[in-house]
Amino acid sequence: MLDIKFDLTKEPKEKPQGPLGFGKIFTDHMFIMNYTEGKGWHDPRVEPYHEISLEPSAMVFHYGQEMFEGLKAYRGDDGKAFLFRPDMNAKRAIRSNERLCIPTIPEEDFVQAIKAVVNVDRDWIPTEPGTSLYIRPFIIATDPILGVAPSKTYLFIIILSPSGAYYSSGLAPVGIWIEDDYVRAVRGGLGYAKTGGNYAASLAAQVKAHDDGYEQVLWLDGVERKYIEEVGSMNIFFKIDGKIVTPMLSGSILPGITRDSVITLCKDWGYEVEERLISVDELLDAQKSGKLEEVFGTGTAAVISPVGKLRFGNEVMVIGDGTIGEVSQKLYDTVTGIQTGAIPDERGWRVEVN
Ligand SMILES: *Cc1c(COP(=O)(O)O)cnc(C)c1O
Repeated sequence: MLDIKFDLTKEPKEKPQGPLGFGKIFTDHMFIMNYTEGKGWHDPRVEPYHEISLEPSAMVFHYGQEMFEGLKAYRGDDGKAFLFRPDMNAKRAIRSNERLCIPTIPEEDFVQAIKAVVNVDRDWIPTEPGTSLYIRPFIIATDPILGVAPSKTYLFIIILSPSGAYYSSGLAPVGIWIEDDYVRAVRGGLGYAKTGGNYAASLAAQVKAHDDGYEQVLWLDGVERKYIEEVGSMNIFFKIDGKIVTPMLSGSILPGITRDSVITLCKDWGYEVEERLISVDELLDAQKSGKLEEVFGTGTAAVISPVGKLRFGNEVMVIGDGTIGEVSQKLYDTVTGIQTGAIPDERGWRVEVN
């Protein structure tokens, strides 16, 4: 249990009017906690949202020792606030920290910190359909030393951002660029950790894909550039000949919480779900023989993102008829329904902030 101190603002900001977008507006408060070697994590507190000052030599600026998480809070009809499977974020944070030599935070403390700051800013949770309060916990290495070594001091911070509906007019299928030159991660690397470095590695291909009119990049494995890994900030699923297929967690892809939820739901609905290697060739063959029935990405931001076309070299695979697939739609409705309370939660996924 953290002994959190609260210093609340006397000058609350105006709540935003109009479209929220994503990650541009921040609430009145933040959670912050320090780590010092020998002392452990200390001084957990909720404070007015403010700038932080670091020395230019702070390790995070030079060697990227940092991790982050991402989840959302939703408002219930009764003014209550809810999180979706925050224990899974806390567990994943521990695995990211271990990979990056960052001191871990116990699962209960991580969830307690999130609840504490969300509770203070619960009036910031937007209520329009599809909107939510995006929660961004992160840890940075702060030692003012240029030598390469794990830092001995850190900051753990949680900021909150009211976010607009990802889809303004129904689930719109996206175009995806399969990248065959740059790679994002390799087994043994950082791929399974949620850390900024993976995103730094992804930008060049993203720019290339955008220039060509594609929204997202689909990564191939870093060794043979043959097997499907994941998309930008989403895991990827295929419906091939009636079965649900997704790349297995090999160490180079991020173990998404939406991915885990989708696998659970599909199994409960009686679908055969395969977690395995999937080659681009298999997809091309499945598409040519009419067996590639649906493709969709999964992640906290979009929940389910239907894919309408996949480009690989000179080949463009068009999936379905340009509308969203049946399973994609059902998954979207079910996951968002559980998150908002419209559908009963039979699995204990919806956690009240109190
Ligand atoms: C966060 C993230 C995902 C999706 O994970 P969720 O827990 O479902 O939000 C997928 N891939 C990458 C690279 C990510 O950073």
